Amino acid sequence: MRPSRTTLLATGATPRELDIPGVDRTHKLRTRADEEKLKATFEPGARLVTIGGGWIALEVAASAREAGLDVTVLERSKLPLVSVLGPELAEHLKKLHESHGVDIRTETEATGVTDDGVLVGDELVPAEVILLAAGVTPSTELAAAAGLGVQDGIIADPQLRTTDPNIWVAGDAAYATNTVLGPLRVEHWDNAIRQGKLAARSILGQEGAYDWQPYFYTDQFEFSMEYVGHSSPDDSVVIRGDLDKNAFIAYWIAPDGHTITAGMNVGIWDVNDQLRELIGTTVDPEQLTVLG
Ligand SMILES: Cc1cc2nc3c(=O)[nH]c(=O)nc-3n(C[C@H](O)[C@H](O)[C@H](O)COP(=O)(O)OP(=O)(O)OC[C@H]3O[C@@H](n4cnc5c(N)ncnc54)[C@H](O)[C@@H]3O)c2cc1C
Repeated sequence: MRPSRTTLLATGATPRELDIPGVDRTHKLRTRADEEKLKATFEPGARLVTIGGGWIALEVAASAREAGLDVTVLERSKLPLVSVLGPELAEHLKKLHESHGVDIRTETEATGVTDDGVLVGDELVPAEVILLAAGVTPSTELAAAAGLGVQDGIIADPQLRTTDPNIWVAGDAAYATNTVLGPLRVEHWDNAIRQGKLAARSILGQEGAYDWQPYFYTDQFEFSMEYVGHSSPDDSVVIRGDLDKNAFIAYWIAPDGHTITAGMNVGIWDVNDQLRELIGTTVDPEQLTVLG
């Protein structure tokens, strides 16, 4: 029976704060207003430092560099995005940024922010503009106050119903059970749209389940890609095509050596649906091709 009162939580996520001195001097990027404020600082020759080297930091780094800023990326891990891309592709992306003049400093942790730049221990990395892009956290305060189950997001079943039968959740805030991948929180636009539609169907008592693979895209210099699936850092990566020309397909293969967990098309278009169909299938990696 349809409940008489329903609520959909779509509270999204908010940029992660860092507990370091001076952090309030940094820009964050979540809203259109944030974007306008940051963009207004894009004067050729200005120095931008990003704290963090994830997707948003690297996209901003590329745009800022193209606008003539002097850009430094500070990233705590060994390579930017290594947990998603794996070492070979993360190194590739790093080199691409460096070839455009972005200074990417890995295994580097910001310890403070001053009027003159970002502190890394005793060293000052000078900057007029500082972007804090250290990931996001799901906005769960409202759900928690309402007594809903919260873990890494607002807990929901495959129909996106929370632990309260009259409340649904969709988007970046949702920690929902994917029928193929298990409990999952996804911070991508495509997921927010699909989950919004599924939640609406579910509220109306119609059939449907959270059963799709995550999808996202990025554009950074010559690296334009679409990614579908859900890889893990233990997967191996098989590349087909031309890495140097940023025209290739990457396949993530599970530790069993055969199951495709994710695929990424870089500079090769209209193949993402084919990639999506391959996810979860078993293959002989030798047989994988550029598709198209
Ligand atoms: C700079 C940037 C670049 C991105 N690039 C990509 C990309 O290239 N590809 C991709 O797939 N995804 C990208 N994303 C991620 C994508 O934008 C998000 O996954 C998507 O916006 C999530 O939608 P949402 O509706 O769940 O949350 P949001 O878009 O965060 O919307 C949540 C809204 O709820 C409001 N809200 C929160 N709490 C309350 C409350 N208590 N009361 C009232 N309102 C409240 C918030 O203010 C916000 O407006 C990017 C995100 C950012 C910030």
